[in-house]
Amino acid sequence: MSETRADLTRNQKLVLSALRDGAQPLSAYQLLDRLRPHKVTAPPTVYRALDKLMERGLVHRIETANTFVACAHGPHEEDMALRVCRSCGAADEVPLGDLLDALKGRAGRDGFALDRLTLEIEGLCGACREADARA
Ligand SMILES: [Zn+2]
Ligand SMILES: [Zn+2]
Repeated sequence: MSETRADLTRNQKLVLSALRDGAQPLSAYQLLDRLRPHKVTAPPTVYRALDKLMERGLVHRIETANTFVACAHGPHEEDMALRVCRSCGAADEVPLGDLLDALKGRAGRDGFALDRLTLEIEGLCGACREADARA
């Protein structure tokens, strides 16, 4: 795997760095707002860049919130579940590991061909739990 940022287009780089700068996942329209100063004004431009970045595993979509987050690991083969804090919106990734094998095994036994798996975990992150405990 030789993923360098050098072969990203200008728009892809802009989208990726906006997502990396953001403390939280961003919607396509929030991205558009941030990219306006860079003369990116058309939603399809942002969506095209997001599609390419997702294809390459550099960005993940949080389906339940319809927002996007930069991958914290760089391109990875392993499937991850996205973990999203319901209070601050922070997102991180946890490897599915054995859980994925179990799901694949089960699908195989049922004769179900698995194309894609989206798993999102909602809860309260460590920082928000601490803040809650102090309040
Ligand atoms: Zn990732
Ligand atoms: Zn939180």
